[in-house]
Amino acid sequence: MSAVILDGKKLAAEKETILKEKVSALRARGVIPGLSVVLVGEDPASVIYVRSKEKACERLGIRSLARRLPADISQTELEKELRALASNPEVHGILLQLPLPRGLDADAAIACIPPEKDVDGFTDLSAGRLANGMAGFRPCTPVGILELIRMSGVPMDGKHAVVVGRSTIVGKPCAMMLLEENCTVTLCHSHTRNLAEMTRQADILVAATGRAHLITEDMIKPGAVVIDAGIAHLDGHLTGDVEPEGGRRAAGYLSPVPGGAGPMTIAALMMNTVEAAERFENV
Ligand code: NDP
Repeated sequence: MSAVILDGKKLAAEKETILKEKVSALRARGVIPGLSVVLVGEDPASVIYVRSKEKACERLGIRSLARRLPADISQTELEKELRALASNPEVHGILLQLPLPRGLDADAAIACIPPEKDVDGFTDLSAGRLANGMAGFRPCTPVGILELIRMSGVPMDGKHAVVVGRSTIVGKPCAMMLLEENCTVTLCHSHTRNLAEMTRQADILVAATGRAHLITEDMIKPGAVVIDAGIAHLDGHLTGDVEPEGGRRAAGYLSPVPGGAGPMTIAALMMNTVEAAERFENV
């Protein structure tokens, strides 16, 4: 048996088709959805991420109002820029690309983004709303992860989901979102004792550590849905948290790296942006 591959590229393309229609409907009403990605400095990886987000905007007809700010910008100036975007009616979504250059306070900067424009779901308010089970924007990578699980067709209700990684941008919100779907959730991290014993119980396994091939065949329950959100480099190749050959043998469904959670993260950002524009215009 070989796992069904959960093709994130294909799913992202399907989501884009739906979003294009929604953007057309908004434009017909005179509303152009606008996303402002704010990049401070020129961190090479961030430049690539920002470019791919801008390209997605171009494909969908979303207005990209990117802000490129110098690495030596002061905290006061950065917050002023973010507040200006917060009050700009052409901007429906704001994303502050992290990490920020040293010396800048990311938490204080993110706090300048109002929840209705927080399409990255990173503000304290959005995180609190998720924790309290209230409506709000959810972080993009977990949104993409849940879409990949839905793609498998395996119902989440009542399943045991194990998430490996507890960061505030991937693991922790993903665990809470799986809880919202009525999964029984176990959240693992670097202090977890006997990780394999935990992961082997997972009907749904989400790996988000960035440790290449941490999850091996013997750690996967046969037939499980396995979502690999990790991005790592091994022997000059891009790879994920799951050892791919063993993963394919053991899992029932497996998202690949690359081509799984990555494209779905961008698609989720576009989904959140279109939703922000629709809510702003009361559509
Ligand atoms: P972080 O480094 O912030 O968190 C990693 C988490 O993994 C931590 O909670 C850590 O535990 C846990 N961990 C590390 N080693 C082990 C181990 N041996 N066993 C169990 N748990 C372990 O990373 P992020 O959450 O930001 O990102 C996770 C991965 O997802 C990365 O590879 C990143 O590149 C990728 N990513 C992919 C995105 C995409 O678009 N596809 C977007 C965002 C991230 P502890 O808390 O105890 O330190």
